[in-house]
Amino acid sequence: MVRAVAGVAEVVPGLVDVTPATAMKSQSLAGGAVAPDLIDIGVNLTHDSFDHDRGAVMQRAAAAGVTRMIVTGTSVTTSVQALSLPEPEPGRLYATAGIHPHHANEFDEHSIDALRALLDDPRGVAVGECGLDFFRDFSPRDMQERAFAAQLELAAVTGLPVFLHQRDAHAIFIAMLRQVRDRLSGGVAHCFTGGPEELRDCLDMDLYIGVTGWVCDERRGGPLRAALPDIPLDRLLLETDAPYLLPRDLKPRPKTRRNEPCHLAHVLARVAAEMGQPPETVAEAATSNTERLFGLPPLGSLA
Ligand SMILES: [Zn+2]
Repeated sequence: MVRAVAGVAEVVPGLVDVTPATAMKSQSLAGGAVAPDLIDIGVNLTHDSFDHDRGAVMQRAAAAGVTRMIVTGTSVTTSVQALSLPEPEPGRLYATAGIHPHHANEFDEHSIDALRALLDDPRGVAVGECGLDFFRDFSPRDMQERAFAAQLELAAVTGLPVFLHQRDAHAIFIAMLRQVRDRLSGGVAHCFTGGPEELRDCLDMDLYIGVTGWVCDERRGGPLRAALPDIPLDRLLLETDAPYLLPRDLKPRPKTRRNEPCHLAHVLARVAAEMGQPPETVAEAATSNTERLFGLPPLGSLA
């Protein structure tokens, strides 16, 4: 279903009274070190759990050093919404436009034209979220493959990077990427949860690696924690995937289980510890990697 965009407040509630967030140029980390601005590359900010307080969520993020975000589009509808979110100030919010494998059954002959039109917006910085999810299988696998192949082609012809989702479909995912690899400008394995072998395959495809609070999950995060020391610092990106994947070791634990971009510094701290690097080094690398992959201008240059 694709709704007409009547007005932003109507399409995306919770946006009225967005006062400009306090610009925090840097953030104190444990030990008094100062990290550069963080960029959350994967926030599902159009999710209805944010409808009542979206402006406050953005303010809390900025206060926690997360001064920029890339909002994830997962369907034509949510991609429209993601690109309609008003920014507290220029250069703060970007978005992807794509069709998630869960929504591949919505993919039709008009989808690519719709996504291409959305990506004409300078705030549209990547094709996706797209890929394969053979774990949930919410859409038939042949439709997932068709939607994924078409979006890889869109990334190739537009020159935009691709924002990738993969679960329980690693081999075919890599095989499909290999077909277009030489024509892609770049891509990120978003919410990477695999171990060292899957990591090697993704790095061989020249992908960046997006790491979420999955790393904090004592039950499921083992393979990812084993892979982290092998991620080259110039390939690492950080994300919360909010409202999903609330870090399980967050203290105090929020009353709701909703994750927020303000928790990105918590993810950073754990990633840095697992990589054996100072948090400020990892933060600086992740921010400059993000600017490079998505072609983001330096913060403040648009204000
Ligand atoms: Zn995903």
